[in-house]
Amino acid sequence: MTHRDFEGWEEYCRRRAAAKEAGSPDWARLPQSRDVMLAEGGKLYFTGIPCKNGHISPRDGNRNCTQCSVANMRAYYERQKNAV
Ligand SMILES: [Zn+2]
Repeated sequence: MTHRDFEGWEEYCRRRAAAKEAGSPDWARLPQSRDVMLAEGGKLYFTGIPCKNGHISPRDGNRNCTQCSVANMRAYYERQKNAV
């Protein structure tokens, strides 16, 4: 297990509550920030703060919300399908 500076109970509880609210309590175990994620070599982090579209979900190394990425990908494939 890698060492991670503890973010503090207040911050941890906030993220844990947000993760639980979103239906995925495991997200609270993700790094709390992109810097921590990069330091650990991970691919996702979870801030518990909603993205601009209101999703509470992990973000990737480009700071993109994963739910937005899925939605964008789906829209892309729909466009491809309709273009044929
Ligand atoms: Zn989003």
